[in-house]
Parts: sequence; structure tokens; C-alpha cells
Amino acid sequence: MNVSDDANKAARQLCEKVDAGRLRDLALSFLRVESPTGREKAFSTHYADYLKSIGMKVKMTHEYPDSPNVIAMHQFGKGKTLQFDGHTDTIDKPHDPPVFKDGILYGRGACDMKGSLAAMVEATRIVLQSGVRLGGSMMLTAHGLHEAPLGWNQPLDEMIRSGNIGDAVVVGECAHDMLPVEGNGMSIFEVTLRRAGTIIHETKAPGMVNPIFVANEIVTSLRMKSLELATDRIAAIPPSLFVGVFSGGDFYNRVPVECTIVGTRRYSYRQDSKQVEGELRQLILDRHIPDGVTINVQVKRAAEGYRISSDDPLALSLKDSYKLVTGRVLEEGATTVCGNLPWFTRDGGIPAVYHGPDQHTAHADVECVSIQELVRLTKVYVALMARYCGIGE
Ligand SMILES: [Zn+2]
Repeated sequence: MNVSDDANKAARQLCEKVDAGRLRDLALSFLRVESPTGREKAFSTHYADYLKSIGMKVKMTHEYPDSPNVIAMHQFGKGKTLQFDGHTDTIDKPHDPPVFKDGILYGRGACDMKGSLAAMVEATRIVLQSGVRLGGSMMLTAHGLHEAPLGWNQPLDEMIRSGNIGDAVVVGECAHDMLPVEGNGMSIFEVTLRRAGTIIHETKAPGMVNPIFVANEIVTSLRMKSLELATDRIAAIPPSLFVGVFSGGDFYNRVPVECTIVGTRRYSYRQDSKQVEGELRQLILDRHIPDGVTINVQVKRAAEGYRISSDDPLALSLKDSYKLVTGRVLEEGATTVCGNLPWFTRDGGIPAVYHGPDQHTAHADVECVSIQELVRLTKVYVALMARYCGIGE
């Protein structure tokens, strides 16, 4: 029997230990501690306490006091460290209280991504308490300030900067039945045009510059650029430029002082946020702006684009684990979803994959995940731990 046979046998045995009832209770306990973006402390503490209770070595870091990072380790053998990473925050939108009904868990964060955190923890607990000694180490990390427009993943930047990463990482969301080997990056831009003075009746201010007209010219250039980008076939998913907000004025005959344009620019892994920001600024600022009008352009990176190698040991182990648990092939594809994977590949320099629960209802008014889906996910995680880290002596 070779190492991989050992790992496969252990993976099958460990998968049998996944208990839907435990998983449900754990996920519900996570959902009950609310953690809107920027106010994750109570949940992070609850999460860290649970990790301690299953025997992990846990530390919290507090560069962002209301959004502390949780870093938990358990060393089995001297082999590689497999990290599972997730965000602790949920979008700050009201939701009915958490409940389990007819096999479904409901609550803010059910699929994005407390269900996933529960699966990671439960998978780790099963391995820890099974007596199976993996060949490497397990690392679980979680951070807040993820969800835009409040969160820009500042705590994750800090976590990676200070070297709190493993040898490879599973980011527990953004894909559940496909391996996205490529994903577009996204930046959010906001253009504000402002004229001097106060609001005045249109007939009392002949010749007064109207920021709406200036903004309209900018939107026209953005539109031309978006048509050009739509024909770009270099990446799996074409890049794009989108305007979601055009706002100015408050009354039919009052000259406004301000007009705002907000939108997204999505780009392939072949570009990065700095290049895209430069292009956008040039496109917007390279024009005549009438006297008396000031223009302000903000471009913020939501996530970089990425491309991963599908024959890296981590990706291969994930495919094997998925097949072992579901009997299906984990097909490769591309994603439009912007998650934290590029932080690890670009900034951390380690292999990374996305794999989490079905997130169909992420950010929805009614957010949910089925317990079967969390059981499947926990089994895939358990199998992945055994397959990637191998079995120790
Ligand atoms: Zn998420």
C-alpha cells in the first residue's frame, strides 16, 4: 500500500464521521453571533474560543480592533501546512433570525460564509479527534472587513504581510461544483464633479456650468470603452466597464452643484489594479473640464485577477477529494466572483483554490444553505486534509 492509498483509506474513514446534527448546531451557533462588516469582534472571539475548545493553538491579532484576525494551528507532522481561510463578516443588511427548517439553515451569513467556516472547523475537529496523524499541519484563518464598500480586506493584507500563511490555502467560498482556474479582478470607481457656488434657479444663472452635462460626456466615453472591452477575447471572461450610479440634481429647474458616477471595471489576470486605475484616470481626466468645475476620481481595488495551475498538488488533491465524496468530476472553469484567492497567490506567493458551499443566496434577502451541502463540503475538506497533507508515521 503506498502513501496515497493510506491517505485515501483515511479520507474515506474520516468522511464517515461527518455528523449533520453537529454541523447544524455549530453553524447555527455561528449565525447567532452577528458580524456585519467592521463589527466582527464578538463573532471572531466566539470562533476563536471554539477553535481552542477542539484543541487548536489559537491567536488573535488586533491591528483592526473591531475586526480581529483569528489564526489557528495544529501541527501533526513535519510536512506541509494546509490553510483554510474565510471571512468573518456578513453584509450589513437585515435578515430574519437564524433558523433550521426542513433541512435548510437560514440566516445572514448562512452561505456567505459562516456555513463554510463551520465546515472547516468541523472537518478539523474530526481529524484532530480521530487519532489519525496527518503528515503536515492544519491552519485555519479568518478575517473581517471583507465586504465592500466598507471592507477592503485590510486585515487580510495585514495577515499576509506578517507571514501568517500556510504552504497552500483553500479559500472556502466562490465555487462549489467547479474549479475556477481563472478569475477577473475588479476595481470600483467613483467620479465626482463639483462646481463652485450654491444651488440656484436655472433662469437666474444663464451660462452657469451644469455638472450633469459634464458628467454625461464622461459617461459617453465610459460607454465607448465598455463596447471596446466587450470584444476582448484574450481571457476566459471578457473584461468590462459598468456604470451603476449616475446621480445629480434634486429639482427640475435648479442647477445642481454636484454629479456623481459610480461603477466597476473588471479585468483579466493579465492586468492589475494599478494599470487599470491609470487607464481609467486617463480616460476620465483627458478632456476639457469647464472652468469652475472640479473633478475627483477615486479608484479602489476590490480584488486582483488570477490564474492558477490546475496540476498543482493542491488543485489535484481537491479534484480527487471532490470525486471521492460526490462521485463527480470537478470541472475547470472561470469565475466572475471576486474573492480572496488572489491575496494568497499574488501577495502571499502560495498555491490557492476556491472551494465552498453553494452560494446562490449570498447577499440575498433570504440567505440559506442546505445541511446536505454543508455535509458534502465538510467531507471534501476532510478528504482534502488527508490527501494533501498525507498520513504521517
Ligand atoms: Zn463571501
